[in-house]
Amino acid sequence: MAEDTAVTPAARLPGRGQPAVQAARRIVVKVGSSLVTNEGRGLDAAAIAQWAEQIARLRAIGKDVVMVSSGAIAEGMKRLGWAQRPKQIHEQQAAAAVGQMGLAQVYETCFREHGLATAQVLLTHEDLADRRRYLNARSTLLTLLELGVVPIINENDTVVTDEIKVGDNDTLGALVTNLIDADCLVILTDQQGLFTADPRRDPQAQLLPQVSAGDPALEAMAGDAGTAIGKGGMITKVLAARRAASGGAHTVVASGREPSVLVRLAQGESIGTQFVAQTPRLAARKKWMADHLQLRGSVRLDAGAARALMREGKSLLPIGVIDVIGDFERGEVVACLDPEGQEIARGLVNYSGSEARRIMRRPSTEIEAILGFVEGPELIHRDNLVLR
Ligand code: GLU
Repeated sequence: MAEDTAVTPAARLPGRGQPAVQAARRIVVKVGSSLVTNEGRGLDAAAIAQWAEQIARLRAIGKDVVMVSSGAIAEGMKRLGWAQRPKQIHEQQAAAAVGQMGLAQVYETCFREHGLATAQVLLTHEDLADRRRYLNARSTLLTLLELGVVPIINENDTVVTDEIKVGDNDTLGALVTNLIDADCLVILTDQQGLFTADPRRDPQAQLLPQVSAGDPALEAMAGDAGTAIGKGGMITKVLAARRAASGGAHTVVASGREPSVLVRLAQGESIGTQFVAQTPRLAARKKWMADHLQLRGSVRLDAGAARALMREGKSLLPIGVIDVIGDFERGEVVACLDPEGQEIARGLVNYSGSEARRIMRRPSTEIEAILGFVEGPELIHRDNLVLR
């Protein structure tokens, strides 16, 4: 394997991890503006067609893939005949609105060649920070994946201002990775990966095939390599990898111009830099639920539901709930108690406390008649549940 021959400064090697893309079941692929728009010259349909072809192959071997694509502002500037990135926020927003049309059109056309439907998803920081919207965004993306659709995500640049922006799509890629519990984030860029020093200034600089995502020394190596076209330099990639790792996901930063890069990564080849997450994903998710989300209430289950959760890996349905304690909103965290009152799990709840009280002990088929709407047949979906 290429990994065996690669130059690997020993100090940075966190132990030989499994190739992350090969092992991953769910992957987020982020492509940067300079790749998508051919250094700002206009949408590179040939490059996009190649990534679409590769993603179709990953899907065919059972991997879920979500794309995060930059390029709206760069393409909008091109279409509007602007040589310089505008300073005014509303001009940037206008450019993004124009350019996003082009992105959507090219992705749709390229994926359709392979019989794959795409979905445009434009997110803001608030969609990821607000509990209810977080759960909505998560459910929609997971539903799209179940339907076999490839979501193409960008920040909703047209409505966000600087203060409330995620700001760069490397960070957005990491947030999406954690949002949908992806195992791996692949950042395709116009550089080969992370080097020991800036390779444009230092001829001795060596590519690092594998690093530990949390290593504080990485920031110094990354420098400030932002380009005129893209938003994030290598430093935002290092920080994005750290953020993805906090959710237990590995990150690979590699050149999007490398032939068949995604397919070769999926075959286990070492290309670019792999940022290894030290905490396994499930443990990271448990910690996240424990640390970041306050417990807002609890639900007491009957013995059958408690068993289904603990032993059979099932979701929690309203019919298995015998009591609802506390006032909570959809998207908040509640504890699941067994009939004796022992906490057995925690999860993000699909219905508010008052709604849960009305549908408890009832079959899911009756939810619509009782509430007038359905957020899902489960009170807590398995994907949003962690056992204690
Ligand atoms: N959302 C921006 C765009 O599509 C790009 C941000 C970035 O390059 O990181 O133009």
